[in-house]
Amino acid sequence: MSQLEMYAVQRLARTAADRGHYHLGKLLNAAVVSLTNRSVHTESLPNTDRELAEVVAALEPALRQAGLDLRLLAAIQQAREIIAAGNLIFYDAVPAVWVCRVCGEVALDTPPDQCPHCAAGALVFQFFPATFYLEPEPVSNLMTQLSRTADWLDAALQGLSAEQVARRVDGTEGAWSLHEAAGHLLDTQHLIAQRVQLFLEQATPKLNAAALWQTVESTRLSATEMAAEFRLSREAMLTQLRSIPAAHWMRTGQHAEFGPVTLQQQCTYFAKHEHWHMAQITRIRRAL
Ligand SMILES: [Zn+2]
Repeated sequence: MSQLEMYAVQRLARTAADRGHYHLGKLLNAAVVSLTNRSVHTESLPNTDRELAEVVAALEPALRQAGLDLRLLAAIQQAREIIAAGNLIFYDAVPAVWVCRVCGEVALDTPPDQCPHCAAGALVFQFFPATFYLEPEPVSNLMTQLSRTADWLDAALQGLSAEQVARRVDGTEGAWSLHEAAGHLLDTQHLIAQRVQLFLEQATPKLNAAALWQTVESTRLSATEMAAEFRLSREAMLTQLRSIPAAHWMRTGQHAEFGPVTLQQQCTYFAKHEHWHMAQITRIRRAL
């Protein structure tokens, strides 16, 4: 399907919703997202920060020509310059962003009051969080999902030789072995356990940004030992979380990369992050 046809599907989704056929709109929007995700999942994408910054820079003239809001374009430029310099983009380095669902007007920095272009009200604007990992999951489901990962990880590592576990397999995130992927999950478990502790001890903890993909667990443990350590740490954390007053879930920490983050958002972040990695780990295992 060409990009033009994809755009036509989006327009039909809008028309359907405008005519009150919300469920047809929903289905057409789902079709667009499905086709888009399928194509970005299979295409080869930039796999270094330098390459990413270059590809974004090369796209900027087309975005300008398409009439994109110049302040949004400038923010994109700013973000890719930070990446090109090898740095992490902090919360205050780029603006918060909203887009009017009616007309596409962009609002930066502060939540819009009313659309200056089409006069739609503030609630029509779509807010863009840094990642869907931060969109909070209801606590009961969050706890269920967090309690399942240790079993999942054991199964993913089961029945493989040491050589298979250490073998690197190429992918969109670069070449990873199951050993490295398990190490990454263990690193992130240690980090979330530490953050949960901070949230329980302080009403407004400071949460430092950690570039975890750069701190892959050392080779001191075997993959199965890492999975066992993951389980111990996760179970201890879940026991703590089960005992907290409901109000603690709304405690808000300050994260250098994401800004204000509640305990619920922080736990959701890590749960979704490991669910994302399940696809990577499964792909590596299938390729062994
Ligand atoms: Zn508008």
